[in-house]
Amino acid sequence: MGSSAGLLFLSALFVLYYCVIKVIYRKYRAGLAFGWCGRAWGSRERQAGLGARGAGDSERLAVLLLIAHPDDECMFFCPTLLTLLRLHCCVSVLCLSSGNYYGQGEVRKKELLASCGTLGVPETQVTVIDHRDLPDSPAVQWDMQLLSTLVLKHIQDNHIQLVVTFDQGGVSSHANHIALYKSVRNMHTGGKLKPGCRILMLETVNIFRKYISILDLPISWFRSHDGIHVLTSQEYKRAKNAMWCHRSQLLWFRHLYLFFSRYMFVNTFHLL
Ligand SMILES: [Zn+2]
Repeated sequence: MGSSAGLLFLSALFVLYYCVIKVIYRKYRAGLAFGWCGRAWGSRERQAGLGARGAGDSERLAVLLLIAHPDDECMFFCPTLLTLLRLHCCVSVLCLSSGNYYGQGEVRKKELLASCGTLGVPETQVTVIDHRDLPDSPAVQWDMQLLSTLVLKHIQDNHIQLVVTFDQGGVSSHANHIALYKSVRNMHTGGKLKPGCRILMLETVNIFRKYISILDLPISWFRSHDGIHVLTSQEYKRAKNAMWCHRSQLLWFRHLYLFFSRYMFVNTFHLL
């Protein structure tokens, strides 16, 4: 009797959890999850929906996705990238290394372009910086001054209004990811960014939450954040196709990652 009551309780809990996921997913799959929008911009931009369909580049919100390696855009930022594109933002990608840790830099650059193309970012909007002092390596601390100079120049030259990058945990604690966070934080606190240019940092979650896929959605939703982006099922297929473009990186565990990582389904953010 005791075990069947326990089983019934667990089943009810599971059904309840499933319903919560469904409700949150239905609410946010349409890309309305822009809690940060109200704080980052005024009502004019909110009414405009960030970028109107068919508007010229100068009228659309200029967003920069700042990453350290080819495949970061896929592994961590797909929900955000596809949401911003769905909202007709003018998205560009700046990758600070060619991902040459195993000597595959040239191949990985091409893979990044193909992946971005699959996601909807044209080649002309993708820049890869291949500087010998910014190597792809978790053991090397990137030169902050050099990094900040390169990133700031790109932001200024392209009139960027929103920078999307890692937070202090770098999702995977990779030193190169964390260097990007430190760089934008220094620019922000040093007052080097134009007024109105905002920084959105991808939240690093613990290892348990990282690998429970869409089951993390209610936890993401109930915890404090400035923004949450959720992929639709069609967008998830596109994200998977983009991941296939990184053929040199498609080891067996990447296949598991596609299914189990919550970053393939949901991104939560904090504004700097
Ligand atoms: Zn990376």
